[in-house]
Formats: sequence, C-alpha cells, structure tokens
Amino acid sequence: LVAARPLVRGLVGDKAGAWDLAGELPADLLTDLGARGLLCAQVGTEYGGLGASSLANGEFTAFVGGLCSSLRSVMTSQGMAAWTIQRLGDAGQRAEHLRHLVSGGLAAVAFSEPDAGSDLSAMAATITPDGDDVVVTGRKVWTTAAAYADRIVVFGRYGDGAAAVVVPVSRPGVRVTRVADPLGCRAAGHANVELTDVRVPAGQVLGGTGQSLPLLVTAALAYGRMSVAWGCVGILRSCVEAVGAHARERRQFGTALIEHQLVARHMAELYADERSATLACAHASRCWDEGSPDMVAATVLAKYTGSRHAARGAATAVQVLASAGARDGHAVARAYRDAKLMEIIEGSSEICQLMLSRHALAADY
Ligand code: FAD
Repeated sequence: LVAARPLVRGLVGDKAGAWDLAGELPADLLTDLGARGLLCAQVGTEYGGLGASSLANGEFTAFVGGLCSSLRSVMTSQGMAAWTIQRLGDAGQRAEHLRHLVSGGLAAVAFSEPDAGSDLSAMAATITPDGDDVVVTGRKVWTTAAAYADRIVVFGRYGDGAAAVVVPVSRPGVRVTRVADPLGCRAAGHANVELTDVRVPAGQVLGGTGQSLPLLVTAALAYGRMSVAWGCVGILRSCVEAVGAHARERRQFGTALIEHQLVARHMAELYADERSATLACAHASRCWDEGSPDMVAATVLAKYTGSRHAARGAATAVQVLASAGARDGHAVARAYRDAKLMEIIEGSSEICQLMLSRHALAADY
C-alpha cells in the first residue's frame, strides 16, 4: 500500500479543494482506485483483493484522508460494505460481492433513517420474504457514497429480528437523492435512499435472517469507526504540515510566526493531537489484526480520540493560518468542516463516551 501512494498523490494532486467546491469526485478516479483494490484494501487475495492488514490499510487511509476527506469517506463506505459482506455473507455471497468491490464496483452502507440516528433500534425499514425474493421498503438518510454506488448494503427489520441485504441501485423502486450542500466531505456523495417495494432475490440477504440488530450493526460499524479514526489522523497530519509551512514563512512583528511562543504552543498541541490519535489508531489496528478481545473498546477509543483531536486540531490550524486559511476550499478550511462531521458519524462523540464509560467501569489495571 505504501507503493500505491505516489499513484494516489498523482491522481488527487491539488484537486481536492475543487472537488469539494464542486461536490463531486470524478467517476473514473473511483473506478480506477476501486479496480486496483485500493478502496477496500483489507479484502483478501482469494477474492482478488490486496489482503492488507488493518494497520497497513489504516496508514493508507490516513494518507488518503490527508489528501482528500471526501475520497477517504468513499473508502470508508466501500471498506465497511466489504467488511459487512465478509463477516455476514456466505461463501457464494463473499465471492460475488467482494470480487465486485475490487473490480471497480462501488458500494455504500445504509443504517440511518429520519427517526433512527444514534438510536438504530428505532430503524423502521423492512425486509420481507416473498417467494424466492425479499421486498425492501424504507427511507435511509445520509448514506455516504450512495450517489456513486451501484450496490447498497441496506439494514432493516426482518420478522422479529433484523437482516442486511445487498440492493443493486438499478432495481425498480430505488431512488437516490443527493444531500444538498453538506457541511463537509462535500464530494463524498452523501445521499438519501428511498426504497419502495424493492424486490431482490432472497440470496442477497447476508448471512441468514432474523438476526440481532445490534450485532449486525456492530459488525459493520467496527470497520467504519476504524476507518474514520485513521482518516482523522490524515486530517491532523495535513494540518500539521499546513501550519508548519505557514508559521515558518509568514512574518509578523519582525519575526516568523513560529518564533512567537503562543503560535509555537498551537503547533505543539496540534502535533500532540496527531501523535496521540495515531497511537490510539495503531493500537486499535493491532488489536484488530491480532483478533484481540480488546478490539471493540480500542476501536471506539481510536474513533473518539481521532475525531475529537481532528476537530480541535483543524480549528487550531485555521487559527494559525488566519486569513490565509479562511477561504472556502483551502486545505485547513476543508479540514475544519470535514473534521467536525467526524465527531458525528459512526457513533457520535457522546455515544462513544457512553461506551467508553462502561469500559472504564470494567477496567482492571
Ligand atoms: P441524533 O441521534 O439525533 O443525535 C443528536 C445529538 O444528540 C448528537 O449530539 C448525539 O450525540 C446526541 N445523543 C443522541 N443520543 C444520545 C444519548 N443517548 N446520550 C447522549 N447524547 C445523545 N448513516 C448511514 O447509515 N450510513 C452512512 O454512510 C452515513 N454517513 C454519514 C455521513 C455524514 C457526513 C453524516 C453527518 C452522517 C452520516 N450518517 C450515515 C448518519 C450518521 O450515522 C448519524 O448522523 C449519526 O448516527 C447521528 O444521528 P443523528 O444525526 O440522527 O443525530
């Protein structure tokens, strides 16, 4: 994955700001990176994927996140779809869908609904068996990358339990409407997805039916949290670079900004935020790669730490660049808007705090 960095850097170049302003990533960029397996690099080689570890994929995610959070968001969705299929799908489903996702196909994951945000137990979408098919009905909101995806993993109620089903966007009854003017990650293809009596073969339901909703959702969210956390590391690193370059170059009161101690303190705090977010992410990825029982808590901690630090660090970066960073489309202005959203998605900071408080009570030092 380290070898793929020059390619990605070349493809993204200095275009992330323009993509953000336009609210659109080039379709061929996504297809190209997808067909190289780079949008979901942990998919195994047996499916044509790169078989990357969580740690290697995490560092790559941070790299992409430092260039363009919208592209990184699409990676998060693609990886989350792949991980959900990997975890819940049977051998045939894994072979079909995972091969598709490393061949240029694009997927999104839809949990959230108008009345089911933090509380996904309020989910109302239904997946109903009907002969050899299931019928999917519901309204999903804010589905990242849905505007680009050809398949959406939809979570819904199935009888007394829940299920996840892979819905091709081309099916009659699927309507994808872009979220207008998102605050950040504006080119990530956020969309609302309306499903009206969408009929798909029952074989598209992942891993059986009537499962526990919290268990289903937790499997998918674990990947999403890890990916968002590493993306936040990327945001922080881009801010460290931007602040470093500006504070060395710009002079006020007869000296470089970095020579002013209060500016140096900003730099130090930003660096400390980046380093501690990186350590939290690396620890969580190692837990993931080792199959450690600490993985769930470590992933929540990484997501919480990464997103909090990124939001604070990006605000600091805007502060140091001041008017130089106060233009829409500037890297630190983008970071500021993008980072704020990271405190909301994949379990808001408050939801993470609730989970971490329970882990803290059980801590045994
Ligand atoms: P609410 O649940 O209404 O929460 C509002 C506030 O109340 C928050 O601050 C929250 O932390 C707080 N709160 C809620 N419950 C509690 C509690 N028990 N204790 C303390 N505080 C609480 N969804 C998808 O399904 N797929 C996606 O790909 C996806 N991508 C997204 C991308 C972006 C940029 C955004 C903004 C959202 C995305 N979402 C996606 C939706 C996202 O998962 C939800 O926005 C998130 O779960 C929060 O739900 P909500 O917005 O309805 O806020």
